[in-house]
Amino acid sequence: MKTMGIGELYLVEPKRFPDPEADVRATGAVDVLQRASVVGSLDEALNGCVFAVAMSARQRDLGPAVGQPRETVARLLVEAGEGQVALVFGNETVGLSNEDVLRCQAAVSIPTDPAFSSLNLGSAVQLLCYECRMTAFAGRPPVAGQGVTPFASPAATADETEGFFRHLETVMTATGFFNPEQPGRLLPKLRRLFGRARLERDEINILRGILSATQSQTGHGRKG
Ligand code: SAH
Repeated sequence: MKTMGIGELYLVEPKRFPDPEADVRATGAVDVLQRASVVGSLDEALNGCVFAVAMSARQRDLGPAVGQPRETVARLLVEAGEGQVALVFGNETVGLSNEDVLRCQAAVSIPTDPAFSSLNLGSAVQLLCYECRMTAFAGRPPVAGQGVTPFASPAATADETEGFFRHLETVMTATGFFNPEQPGRLLPKLRRLFGRARLERDEINILRGILSATQSQTGHGRKG
């Protein structure tokens, strides 16, 4: 739950709570357990809720129609605009009772191999919380560290890039690598190459440093 940014946990009649084993297993998420509300019935847990989804591997005779996780989560988030919403999970041994499922307005069955359909509780919770996060962020949740490229400097501006190209052309001409009388496709090809690289300011400075060093080494005056 916590990894997906969800923190409100209701525990209905837990066998033992708080419990040292639960704390150990929660590792960095003990705060979720400490804030959990312990209640005596599902009715109590759903008090004030406008929309609840029963999570069950099995279709029940009289329960709400069973939907797919993604479509039901989309609806859950719409309903969340109206008030509190809930995902209701059963325990490992008996799952949800028919009465529990009938207290919910929708049901979800995680599509598994029909021959082996029961996930353990933690996996089922993780999967649905992930779907909630994906839907809440329109399929592109922010990733930790994303957008931070080590060593990156600001992107080079057009004038910095043009200054580099002039410098490069000067050195290529002075060294005889490039003949302005017969330019061929060299310059556009180099532009395409460096355009693909999306040069940064530091990188332009490095490349111009190399060009300047070449100029002083070969005795060709610095221009551009
Ligand atoms: N022995 C129980 C299984 C419980 S698994 C039973 O037969 O019902 C623990 C909980 O994880 C379930 O109550 C349900 O809420 C959830 N769960 C497990 N597999 C699921 C699946 N395929 N689809 C939806 N929920 C699932």
